Amino acid sequence: IAPVSDWSRLVRDVPDFPKAGIVFKDITPVLADAAAFAGAMAQMAAPWRGAPPDAVAGIESRGFILGAALAHALGCGFVPVRKPGKLPARTLAQDYALEYGSDRLEVHVDALPPGARVLVVDDVLATGGTLRAATALLRRQGADVVGADVLVELAFLRGRERWDDPAPLRAAKLL
Ligand code: IMP
Repeated sequence: IAPVSDWSRLVRDVPDFPKAGIVFKDITPVLADAAAFAGAMAQMAAPWRGAPPDAVAGIESRGFILGAALAHALGCGFVPVRKPGKLPARTLAQDYALEYGSDRLEVHVDALPPGARVLVVDDVLATGGTLRAATALLRRQGADVVGADVLVELAFLRGRERWDDPAPLRAAKLL
């Protein structure tokens, strides 16, 4: 297993994206570097090695990349949680509030058998609204959500303080 120590130095700040005044944390350099990507995934996988979930649910779209790699590392299945209108079969939807307006996540109604132990994964925790909506959606689908893991938690946005979900929230790196 590659060293886990230094991958987070490759997360870069992109000012004024997606709009003026926002500093976007860009994880793509971590993915592009073999050792960094391996180190990040080893760190996210480590707590689950003893009792892996039945499936990892990844949130579109960077949660797909990390979630699929993590599922593969843990030897479990992968379930996509998608933006509206993307999944082909019957779906369940969860709406959630944004600063201006609202958004929606969807999952296939039959994505997982009832009671399946699911770990929800995304790249970045900002306010936490997206991850909260995904855990609520999967629970309504019938899953037993055993955790919510992100690669990076943005401390200054204090998403953790609003985390009222029973599933433990874990971040590989606090920035
Ligand atoms: P939240 O719902 O406010 O926690 O925002 C988290 C969602 O927005 C995640 O799906 C992230 O992919 C995305 N996001 C928010 N801020 C950033 C960022 O700085 N870098 C990368 N993704 C971000």
